[in-house]
Amino acid sequence: MARLALLPGPGTGPEDGPVLDLGPAAPPSVHLPDVRDRARAAFLGLALGDALGATVEFMTPAEIRSAHGIHRELTGGGWLRLRPGQVTDDTELSLAMARAIDAAGGWSLLGVAEAFAAWLKGRPTDVGATCRAGIRRYLIEGTLQGRPGAWDAGNGAAMRVLPVALLTLGDDEGLWRLAVAQARITHHHPLSDAACVLVGRLVQQACLGRSLRHLRAGAEAAGREVPHFRFEPYRGLATGYVADTLQTVLHHLFTTRDFEGCLTAVVNQGGDADTTGAIAGAIAGAYYGPEGLPARWLRRLDRALVAELTRLADRLVALSPLAARVSDGAGGPPPVAGGAAAP
Ligand code: MN
Ligand code: MN
Repeated sequence: MARLALLPGPGTGPEDGPVLDLGPAAPPSVHLPDVRDRARAAFLGLALGDALGATVEFMTPAEIRSAHGIHRELTGGGWLRLRPGQVTDDTELSLAMARAIDAAGGWSLLGVAEAFAAWLKGRPTDVGATCRAGIRRYLIEGTLQGRPGAWDAGNGAAMRVLPVALLTLGDDEGLWRLAVAQARITHHHPLSDAACVLVGRLVQQACLGRSLRHLRAGAEAAGREVPHFRFEPYRGLATGYVADTLQTVLHHLFTTRDFEGCLTAVVNQGGDADTTGAIAGAIAGAYYGPEGLPARWLRRLDRALVAELTRLADRLVALSPLAARVSDGAGGPPPVAGGAAAP
């Protein structure tokens, strides 16, 4: 049984917080090619949710209705004046982290911070205030973690947790450690930490083929530990505050029946729609798998981006402890040895 807390305590170990019983991390039989397909769909799903939501970011549901009816196509535009299918910081920071892990052949917090810094220097289309401040602190002080900040409970760390969820498949404590470590480069707040761990876990369980009922039970257990994450009754808030973001994602994940329906419902809530879309896209992408991704949406994404997200998803799964344990039924490449999730 995996018994890990969502909220880290005053120390740094998972043993410091309240205990949350999540059940076994992996079902008894895991087929690695299936996990890889779901991991690819998670990464593509994140990009699709980002691109879909960015059009209506910072709008209210009423404003979206009068401008678009129901917003359900990758049309670009929005306050960032994007091309159709263009992604924003949510995808770019996830990509930066995945590339850093790829380059290091495993986890490197320094490599991730450097990748974030290089991204910021490249004058990105959009960057959140907390992410910018954290990356600038790294550039000036060289520190990999900021001081705890009352304003750090935004969703900017949770939106990019996908790469560590894939890298730590099969290692529940590793997920906890890496999700929080990557978060604190820019966000140092217990709610952000807990959100990163919860999103990472939901992605992992979906990648392992767990049922929606199982995912929901985990999300409800999280809501008992962290009341800010209770998503029913849904209050309809979709701001950049990570509790609002998670409530929006979870409510719509568990009240829709396919990937397109989930993402459409999430982004039409408006607010921080590219980020709620990205997080929902990662979880729902993993859950519904590649067949769930609408072809007309995928065609809008840049082809080089699709190829790179697919390659990096495969690479992250291959580096995970799960790949080292599970035989590959498709006779794919052998898992990379060497304990990728080591600090
Ligand atoms: Mn964004
Ligand atoms: Mn956003």
